Amino acid sequence: MTAAKRIDGKAKAAALAESITRDTASLLEEHGIKPGLAVVIIGEDPASQVYVRNKKRRAESCGFHSVQHTLADDASQQDVLRLIDDLNNDDAIHGILVQLPLPGHLDEHAITQAIEPSKDVDGFHFVNIGKLTAGHTSDAFVPCTPAGCMLMIEDELGGDLSGKTAVIIGRSNIVGKPMASLLMQANATVTVTHSRTKDLPKVVAGADIIVAAVGRPNMVKADWVKPGAVIIDVGINRVEKTIDGASKMGLTGDVDYDDVASVAAAVTPVPGGVGPMTIIMLMANTLRSARLSAGLEG
Ligand code: NAP
Repeated sequence: MTAAKRIDGKAKAAALAESITRDTASLLEEHGIKPGLAVVIIGEDPASQVYVRNKKRRAESCGFHSVQHTLADDASQQDVLRLIDDLNNDDAIHGILVQLPLPGHLDEHAITQAIEPSKDVDGFHFVNIGKLTAGHTSDAFVPCTPAGCMLMIEDELGGDLSGKTAVIIGRSNIVGKPMASLLMQANATVTVTHSRTKDLPKVVAGADIIVAAVGRPNMVKADWVKPGAVIIDVGINRVEKTIDGASKMGLTGDVDYDDVASVAAAVTPVPGGVGPMTIIMLMANTLRSARLSAGLEG
């Protein structure tokens, strides 16, 4: 079999960024509205700081009003809730994102649920989760990672997945569960697996579509994969890699890319697959929020 197609998430995200930038300029010109994204970061987690910097940079390049609020590691629950309340009431802000994970003393649930659902561009509020689960997506925000995965799956297989089987590895609220809702809505027959699943390779081997969101480097191997399957690798794992003969820290996914490439039809690489799509879906959600606030969608 020929080598699998490499699904280029970076190129797709760049194309989407162009159209978001154009639509942002039109929204400003025709309706005087500039999408506003507020990113809240608490503490100094280095990985979170990189993610936040990338989101801010992308928001600015799309022409958004972009603000970052950095709170100290020991910020109190009240400090965070007060800031979210201010942002909920700020007409210049259409999207609020609190970077996770939070320092241990903060109540993540209370903080996520304090964000006004109409500004919850991460799609973590129960109102948005409920709408997605019930199939009412016209005014709901879908979590960015599964939304980006879905666009890449549509590119490979079309929007109607009738007759296709999908196996998701991982059942998190951020990836696995919303991914299942989206695939079901597209008529796929969906199986969600997790750490308690028996004979995981055997379950995965029946799938036309595999979405791996586990956090275990190179777990999915060629002998787990049905010939011709489409594989979306959500995992981001920091591992030691040999690059130009030297040992360096690098990123790898949950799928052994080189191994599955001889069997699958198409695979997303890590990095350069799901990651860039996640950031651009955040911009798409923020633009949509601004349009919804002006009664232009919904
Ligand atoms: P998570 O909340 O830790 O969930 C991991 C899931 O994997 C859980 O459901 C867990 O099962 C399951 N699991 C763990 N070990 C397993 C095993 N041996 N066999 C089968 N299932 C197993 O993680 P997450 O937030 O969904 O993230 C998953 C990965 O995606 C991470 O590497 C994360 O960094 C990455 N990620 C990437 C992006 C992106 O933009 N590219 C966005 C989000 C996440 P249980 O429920 O039974 O514990």
